[in-house]
Amino acid sequence: MPEELSFDTIKVRGGYDPAQHNQSVAVPIYQTTSFELGDVARARRLTTFEEFGFLYSRVGNPTTAVLEQRIAALDGAAAAVAVSSGMAAVTYALLNTVEGGGRILTTPQLYGGTIDSFKKIYPRFGVEIDAVANVDDPQSFESAIRPDTKGIFVESISNPNAAIADIEAIAKVAHAHQIPLIVDNTFATPYLLNPIRFGADVVVYSATKGLSGHGNIIGGIIVESGKFDWGNGKFPQFTEPSFTLRDSAGKERSILEAFPKFPFTARIRFVHVAYLGASLSPFEAYLALLGIETLSERVSKQVESTKKIVRYLEQHEKVSWVKYPSAEGSPYKELAAKYLPKGAGSVFTFGFKGTIEQSERFIDATKLFSYQANVGDARSLIINSPKTTHGELTESEQRLADIPPETIRLSIGLEEPSDLIADLDQAFVKAFE
Ligand code: PLP
Repeated sequence: MPEELSFDTIKVRGGYDPAQHNQSVAVPIYQTTSFELGDVARARRLTTFEEFGFLYSRVGNPTTAVLEQRIAALDGAAAAVAVSSGMAAVTYALLNTVEGGGRILTTPQLYGGTIDSFKKIYPRFGVEIDAVANVDDPQSFESAIRPDTKGIFVESISNPNAAIADIEAIAKVAHAHQIPLIVDNTFATPYLLNPIRFGADVVVYSATKGLSGHGNIIGGIIVESGKFDWGNGKFPQFTEPSFTLRDSAGKERSILEAFPKFPFTARIRFVHVAYLGASLSPFEAYLALLGIETLSERVSKQVESTKKIVRYLEQHEKVSWVKYPSAEGSPYKELAAKYLPKGAGSVFTFGFKGTIEQSERFIDATKLFSYQANVGDARSLIINSPKTTHGELTESEQRLADIPPETIRLSIGLEEPSDLIADLDQAFVKAFE
């Protein structure tokens, strides 16, 4: 394929050559555990990486590989590895960075499951997680870095409040300390933002959300820029020789020697996916690919509908605030204009002006909005985040994350926005009957 293809061409054709797949127009589902090695000489070439091919679907599969290559191309990345959930993507990316102990610097404004994993998993494996005091001030990242901080992790558009990270400024801080910036770009999708363009080194996605877009898979992807120097002395896991990375002469190699262009995702594939085992199934990869074919069309409509619904809610007397970059008084207007010129996604929060019981009656009264813990679906979704998606957080953690008890999160789908507004309108009436 030509080098410089546009986003919309890559999203339907990237990473796939029908000639290599019996001229199948749609990407075939390779529903197989294992692959014929051919002969012993070929098996040797495959295991020493002289020849690239598939051996076993836990580690690599042709359907999944198309998804990986397509996302890497959409993100302007060197390579990608697919995993079986967004949580696996976040966890594997961080474990790969902080192996052997150290600290990860992050913010309190993250998906609740990620925050809870920071409490339940990492400290027990010798890793400390620090949160910056002021998420909106890159200087706050600078002053929180300690000698054993191994990486910075942020969400480009935060869950649930749509706070925008100043990726370029935070990447500069990270790089001044020779550590990588890892960005969870789930809410933006590669259509709205390519964090690598602004200096991010690793990008992770829950493919469960807007990327696949139809609420029918659980999946995750990790992509890397290929530009970070993992051999700078802070990350010995990338430079230590490994028996399983022997070359054809039997000499042990490091992951950096074996895969110099994409050591980060190669290591996740051959260590974390291979041995912790959260690989994406080919069927899920197929559904993700199908969803991505309409990524731009879906997301651009969702962004436009979101702006209309934000405007409606801002003017409603039973709404105390709306958190979305286009909303009146949002502190993220400038950052959104810089990083998200096509829009700040389709997920946001608002404050319900009433009692908690009335807000629960409001949720129950909606008919078009589905009450569920997902985002980025083709259908519109509603949820009381403090009790559900961020229910793992203590009261003080919820305060830090800026999620007061009256918070309601909406994820806008592909329905006609006037129908959605009419649904919210009748639900407000019912909440106060
Ligand atoms: N990252 C973000 C920003 C999320 O919102 C979520 C889930 O809500 C995840 C990661 C985890 O994704 P998954 O549910 O696919 O494991």
